[in-house]
Order: sequence, then C-alpha cells, then structure tokens
Amino acid sequence: MTSELPKFPAAKEFCLAVPLYEKFKYDDEKQNRFFSLEQLEGTLDFHCPECGQHSVFTARKNNFSSNSHYTNYVFSLLFRCSRDSTHQALFIFRAHKGILQKIGQIPSLADLALPDLRKYRKVLGADRFKELTRAIGLTTHGVGVGAFVYLRRIFESLIDDAHRVASADAGWDEDSYSRARMDEKIGLLKAHLPDFLVQNRSLYGILSVGVHTLSEAECLNAFPAVRLAIELILDDLLEQHERQAKLKSAAESLAALKASGGRGET
Ligand SMILES: [Zn+2]
Repeated sequence: MTSELPKFPAAKEFCLAVPLYEKFKYDDEKQNRFFSLEQLEGTLDFHCPECGQHSVFTARKNNFSSNSHYTNYVFSLLFRCSRDSTHQALFIFRAHKGILQKIGQIPSLADLALPDLRKYRKVLGADRFKELTRAIGLTTHGVGVGAFVYLRRIFESLIDDAHRVASADAGWDEDSYSRARMDEKIGLLKAHLPDFLVQNRSLYGILSVGVHTLSEAECLNAFPAVRLAIELILDDLLEQHERQAKLKSAAESLAALKASGGRGET
C-alpha cells in the first residue's frame, strides 16, 4: 500500500454517507467506480426533508458536467423525489489531478441522517444524542478531527456500558481488559457486542491512537466505520429495550387477566 488515501466508495455510499471533501484517488475517469458514480442511474432511498418521510429518489438523466477533464472536472448528480419532482437532491463532485472529492450536497448529510438517528435518543440519552448529532453536523462541513472526538467519546461510553455488564460474568479478567487496546477490548467483550463489530474489530485499532496524532483526513476516513459500529450497538440496545417493554406489557396484561379471574371469557 503506497497510498494513504481511502478506498473509492460505492456510488450510493459516496452520495449518502461520505463526508464532504474527503479525498479519493483515481487513475482515470474510466475506472469502474469513477464511471459508475458519474453515470449513476436508478434510485437512492433516503429521508426527504420536504416530505418529512423516507422516499425513493430517481436520478435525472443527463446530469451536468464540465468538459475539461484534465484540469477541474466538476460533475453533479440530481435526484428527484418520487412523490413530488420539485423535491430534489443534488450532489456535486470535483475531479482534479487524480483526486476525487464530493464538494457539495443538498440535503446535507446531517439532514439525511438526523431523522434516522432520532430513534436512538431513548437508548443513548439526551447528552450523548446531542454529541452524535454534533459529530454528524461537523463531518457535513468536512471537520474531521472534531467530529471524530465526539464519535469516539460515544463509542467509548458504549464500550464502557458493555464492560460494566461483562465484568459480572464468571471468569471475567479485568486485568487483561484494562491493559488491552480498543480492538482487543472488543474481542474480550464479544458476548456483549454485535457480531459484525467483533468480526471487524481490526477497524477499531485507530481508536487507540491519540487524536492529536491523527490527520483531518484519517479522522474523516475512520468516521463511517465508527459511526456504523455505534449504530449497530444502538440497534441491539434498541431491540433489547423494545423486547423489555413488550415483556413488561405482557406481564401487566397477564396480571390484569388473573385479577379479573378470567371473567367475561367464553
Ligand atoms: Zn419528497
């Protein structure tokens, strides 16, 4: 590996998940992923701020592009909401000297993400939820280190929560845990964390590196993996939360049924 730049993302991910200004290398515009981004057709599925709900967006044919392939090549992708074609989403890219960046988008990443994140508020709590939305808001503007600090704090607090539960397990080895790096900690907590996170724990070695030694680009690059990990943990917590609420209401119905002695039943 000679390049420090991240792998070129898939076209839909580039539009909907990759922060602005993150740099990707390409050799020429005919490279598969460059081409499939530039010629992106079909649909994107995301929250339409104007409808106030999820919608399917369809690519407009003949998207705009400047002609100067060799200096500043700018192209944009326009999508229209299937409910109302005046609801539009625009993504703008610039290719320059072998580097491709997304340089603008509307709706912003934060506008796209917040409605989906809101459901996590009840398991995350108000303070951590605020930090999560702040992190996403910062990446929207390409502020990598700042966003990463918030995300890392949330991630670590979720790992601490899992650690608190795990430390009650029989045979728990607190000594090795306290000496472990983040990716190793994830391995030790495997019974209490989502499988995907455990299997891909090598991605999280970066969380053991001091933030002051990471560049803006490294932070932006690590952001999607850390965000995914947070969402996976929260999905598990949300599921537990809902199961618990169901069990509680089932227990209450049963108790009410018993108290009524089954009267009125036929
Ligand atoms: Zn719409």
